[in-house]
Amino acid sequence: MVLKRPILALALLLAVAFAQSEKPLLAGGTLLTAVYPGDFGVSYVEAQPFARALGLLYWQDQGQLILGLGARRLRYVATPLPASKTALKKLVTSEPPSALRDGDRVLIPLRATSRALGALYSGSEASLRVLLPEAVLRGLSHRVEGGRDVLVLKLDRDLNAAPAGAGSWWLLGLRTEEQVREVLGLYLSRVRFEPGPYGARLVLEGAEGWPVEVAYFPSEVRFYVGPRAQAATERRPLVVLDPGHGGDDDDGVRYGNLAEKAIVLKVAREAAERLRRRGYRVVLTRDGDENPSVYSRAQWAAKADVFISLHVAGSPAVPPGPVLYRYAGSRADVPVFVARARTLLDRGGFQPVLRRYARSSRDVAALSDAVEEAFGRIGLSARRAETPLYLLEHAPGAALLVELGSLTDANDRARLSNAAQQSAYAQVIARAVARFLGGQP
Ligand SMILES: [Zn+2]
Repeated sequence: MVLKRPILALALLLAVAFAQSEKPLLAGGTLLTAVYPGDFGVSYVEAQPFARALGLLYWQDQGQLILGLGARRLRYVATPLPASKTALKKLVTSEPPSALRDGDRVLIPLRATSRALGALYSGSEASLRVLLPEAVLRGLSHRVEGGRDVLVLKLDRDLNAAPAGAGSWWLLGLRTEEQVREVLGLYLSRVRFEPGPYGARLVLEGAEGWPVEVAYFPSEVRFYVGPRAQAATERRPLVVLDPGHGGDDDDGVRYGNLAEKAIVLKVAREAAERLRRRGYRVVLTRDGDENPSVYSRAQWAAKADVFISLHVAGSPAVPPGPVLYRYAGSRADVPVFVARARTLLDRGGFQPVLRRYARSSRDVAALSDAVEEAFGRIGLSARRAETPLYLLEHAPGAALLVELGSLTDANDRARLSNAAQQSAYAQVIARAVARFLGGQP
């Protein structure tokens, strides 16, 4: 009996300290509950569901809690709920009110938090409401910096970007008319916005499979696409094989039931496999019966150290045997991509790209030599020609268009339609690329 009294007294004291009325709180579109610890007229909310409702980043580390909205960081140190009402009053009515720890929950002051976020706070007798105004896109720009694409989004407020699958992000709270922007970047080809339930989805075409860094600045989000410059110089060379045509493209050569698009795909696939087994990084511009746009193929060409487009000839006017086409550009027709690299050179900019341009024509000759030598090993003599091709024009590395043979020539046709010979063509390409890359300083 004697022991029970102090316990009862403590329980009463706690009940007083914890006395708190509640109000429904609409945060963003989510219904939460606001509480008034000690009933001092200061509203609080549990931090984690509040962060989720407004699309805020949430970090909790020991006694510290951080909420993030774009470049804004709100830092709280949560004090355990004190036992005495006087102590609680001091915490709750200080300016700004202290965050409170109640078991596993962290309660944060609602009005001060809303103000710090730039959110709208309104209240009535019956309920409270906090919402972030819709964000508006003020501007979109692209530049190349340090060997990476930099996409800059100017906004009218801070917002968070949440990953939404390969090459895409949710820009939480952003409303924008759906729009598309063509970008001639090192990696990026197109930028697209799609409306969605959490805001707008930003799709960075060309960024898939490349590292992307998101950086926040006040009312601004930047996406850095591509490996950092240091990593770029150390990276393994990228080989891109481009099987011509595909899908419903009518430009490919046909002879009876033989189709150029199928032959070149088979050869490209096997060559890629052989190169991968040797440890090279290889990408096919298509790996099925589809027809990527010339633009998308050119994007790959722009990234490649070695780019080979594979074709088959079909005009009776063309002599039989393989032909190696390299790009022949006139001075009056300096391609945009090269022009951009020259600008970078003038500014003393991105070294790896420049080195690639500087050695480009020497490389094309070396790659041609390697392909010619490899064809020679299977008894075929390759001719060389020049062509002003968009694809080759956009390739800063060693780039060739190889016509394996002609379907109108009986000998070529017999080779090109035979599985063992197709494999021989694949070996020619793989051997030539490996020799070219292996022979580089
Ligand atoms: Zn073709």
